[in-house]
Amino acid sequence: MTDQTAPAVEVRNLSKSYGDFVALKDVNLTIAAGEYFVLLGPSGGGKTTLLRTIGGFQRPTSGEILLHGKSVGHLPPDKRPTTMVFQAYALFPHMTVLQNVGYGLKVAGLPKAQIAEKVDQALEQVGLKQFEKRKPHELSGGQQQRVQLARAIVLDRDILLLDEPLAALDAQLRKDMCLELKHLQEKVGITFIHVTHNQEEAMTVADRIALIATGDLVEVGRARDIYRAPEKSFTAGFVGENNILKGKALEVNGTAATVDVAGSKLRIDTRGLLVQAGQELILSIRSECVALEHAEGAEPPADGMSIMGSYDESVYLGLTTSHLVRLPDGTEMISRVIADADETLPQNGAPVRLHWKPSDIRMHIQ
Ligand code: ATP
Repeated sequence: MTDQTAPAVEVRNLSKSYGDFVALKDVNLTIAAGEYFVLLGPSGGGKTTLLRTIGGFQRPTSGEILLHGKSVGHLPPDKRPTTMVFQAYALFPHMTVLQNVGYGLKVAGLPKAQIAEKVDQALEQVGLKQFEKRKPHELSGGQQQRVQLARAIVLDRDILLLDEPLAALDAQLRKDMCLELKHLQEKVGITFIHVTHNQEEAMTVADRIALIATGDLVEVGRARDIYRAPEKSFTAGFVGENNILKGKALEVNGTAATVDVAGSKLRIDTRGLLVQAGQELILSIRSECVALEHAEGAEPPADGMSIMGSYDESVYLGLTTSHLVRLPDGTEMISRVIADADETLPQNGAPVRLHWKPSDIRMHIQ
């Protein structure tokens, strides 16, 4: 019996090596039942390895995986409550929707009447009842995905593993299908674990995101927290368009530190991090949180939340314009603002002031 009150997935101290190469290092992770969970990170980071290990296609080198509270180390993929969706179009082309969905039950030897009933219920659930006689090539990509989901439902698999399910699609279709996947998951309510290296895709579908890079689970959080308030500098560099600045703590006073960045003294909340004077730090601030103003003849700011630089160039991106500014130490910063066609841009090399709200700049130890 599986424990339906337990988390859908618990990964405990999981490591995986291929020969000498360590692909996953001591990963710990809990995924709640009914959650849409995304594994996000750069290529080669270990996302697929983690997904395949959860699905039973690979054995961990050490550590344990529990599905619905039950250790599954000894179980092959077809005995786990998981189904792997390899890509968007992995259906039998010569079979109808009805046959595609019923296939797994037929192989399992279920009586025909029972198959018909289960398939009917699953097609109802994914909204494909009226398409049951069609073949895959007569369906849209989103409908084909729903057929795959129905196949998992009839087999009572309630953890769907999706490895880059939208990678083969062009940008517009990818956006549409992302939303479709999200709505489908909400409607059906089973657990989705979705691997992608595309942050926009991750943000669209995820309840929570785990950042995975070089075999480490870097950070886990709700999509908006990962974006707005990343804990780690790696996350800040990977998600959104963050300015990453190097600084040195000059003075620490309670929860505020004065940090030298390219000769300017900035006031930064330590967020409970243990910081000492003299320590090297990384700061991050998203480009859309940085405002820019002309500063010809202005004194260097002393407010702790702005920095002087020289204007480099602007990149017009339609909805927004990115202004590139060079700090005295050569670091480049970006201020991204809603595009204004009538704006007078500073001359190349002109002094400008970049400023922000104190709560928008974040400190990271590494
Ligand atoms: P991608 O987004 O490119 O698919 P990923 O984050 O899913 O990347 P994995 O496929 O899990 O990464 O691979 C992690 C690392 O393990 C990579 O460096 C990869 O080359 C290596 N690796 C994966 N499978 C094997 C294998 N069977 N034998 C040896 N090395 C492997």
